[in-house]
Amino acid sequence: MLFDTGQDRASVTDPGYFPGAITGVLYGRLARFEISPQQTLSAGLDRLGYAAGDVRIAVLSHLHQDHIGGLAELSHADIMVSQAEWDTLSSPLPEMRGLMRRHIDLPGLRWQRIEPEPTGDPDLAPFQACHDLFGDGSLVLLPTPGHTPGSMSLLVRRPGRPPLMMVGDLTYDAHLLQIGHVPGVGSRHRLREATAMINTMRQRDPGLVILPAHDPEAASRLAQATGQAPTLATA
Ligand SMILES: [Zn+2]
Repeated sequence: MLFDTGQDRASVTDPGYFPGAITGVLYGRLARFEISPQQTLSAGLDRLGYAAGDVRIAVLSHLHQDHIGGLAELSHADIMVSQAEWDTLSSPLPEMRGLMRRHIDLPGLRWQRIEPEPTGDPDLAPFQACHDLFGDGSLVLLPTPGHTPGSMSLLVRRPGRPPLMMVGDLTYDAHLLQIGHVPGVGSRHRLREATAMINTMRQRDPGLVILPAHDPEAASRLAQATGQAPTLATA
C-alpha cells in the first residue's frame, strides 16, 4: 500500500508535461524539480524490494502534481482519493491550482473515491469520521482539509510501536505543526482546524510520529520509527 506517488520524472524529461501559455509560466515560477532515473516511483520501490506490480492500493493525500506522479505504473492497483478532492477537479481553472487532470484521470486506472464514515473510536477523537482501509484499524484515513478541500492524512497503527501520522501537505515541517503555525497554501481557517485536531491526538499520544510529505527530516524520523535505514523518497 502506497501513500502518495511522488513527482513524475516526465515533468523534467517531457517538455509537454506542464500546461503551456500563462499557466505554464506559473508552474515554472512555482517550483523546478530535479529528478534522476533513481528517483522514480519504481526505482524507490525497487530499493525497498518491491515492484510497481506489488502495489495493491495507492492512496493520494491530495491531487497536486507533486503527489500524483507514477500513477501510470499503477493500473493494476486501487487508487484512492477523497470524493471531496476529486470534486475539485471539476471546479473552475483546476490547472491554476496545481491539478492536471490529464496526468490524473488516466485511462485504465481503478479509482475509488472515498467518503469518510462516522466513527466512535476514542483513539481517533476529535476526528468523528474516517475511512478504515482494511477494516482492522491498522491504516485509517482521516479528513484533514485546508491545503486542499479534500486533503487526507493516514494514521498507521502498529502493535507495540508508536503510531505514524502521514499528513501530506497539512504542514511542511512537523515542528511548525506542533506550534500551530500553518503554511500559506490553502484555507487558513481549515488548516488551523485540522492542525488543532492532529495536535489533540499528539497530546494524547506524545509518541505519535508526524510525517509531512515535504519535511526534509521526515525520512530519518520514519527510519527511526521503523528501525530501518533511511530510504530516498521518490521525489
Ligand atoms: Zn500540495
